Amino acid sequence: MYQKIVFVTNNPNKLREIRELMPQGLQVLSLSDIGCHADIPETAETLEGNALIKAHYVYDNYGLDCFADDTGLEVEALGGAPGVHTARYAGADQDPEANKRKLLTEMQGKINRKARFCTVIALIEKGQEHLFRGEVRGKITTEPRGTAGFGYDPVFSPEGTGKTFAEMGEECKNQISHRARAVNKLLDYLKQRQ
Ligand code: IMP
Repeated sequence: MYQKIVFVTNNPNKLREIRELMPQGLQVLSLSDIGCHADIPETAETLEGNALIKAHYVYDNYGLDCFADDTGLEVEALGGAPGVHTARYAGADQDPEANKRKLLTEMQGKINRKARFCTVIALIEKGQEHLFRGEVRGKITTEPRGTAGFGYDPVFSPEGTGKTFAEMGEECKNQISHRARAVNKLLDYLKQRQ
């Protein structure tokens, strides 16, 4: 079993969530914990590619087992956009309000509102790559609803719930979210390795 593993992020919410879920005896380090302050470029055209770029950056430069995630929102009527460009849909400054506004504008008048959130986690363990994917299907609403969560939560309603992620609250969202599903697959893998 490992003692330490790096999560290639400095996002405090992601770190808190994953540290609560990790098997006992496995310490999760952040990028700043290992003294890495690089802005790792995400230049791939797939979520898998970007997650692997980030994980390889740490594995290749620091020699530490690690994992990285990448998330995209894929909207059927927009041909899968914003997809890998989800974080910067409305421009390079990653403004969540502008991203949401752009999505609702692009979706104006569209009957087909089907979408899915996908998270891919890339783990590199002793040089071996492992990929874990989580998805949740749903619809893009016609206007924002709810105040919880972040990013596109107010405009994404997961199938069968009648609510947006932002109306559900963190606990309910974490039962079904794309990220929770990918994280659970990673945890199952890490636990069976003990
Ligand atoms: P990241 O790969 O986790 O940085 O996410 C990429 C983009 O997807 C960012 O713009 C996030 O705001 C958005 N995003 C990721 N996960 C969620 C979520 O659970 N709800 C809403 N937006 C999300």
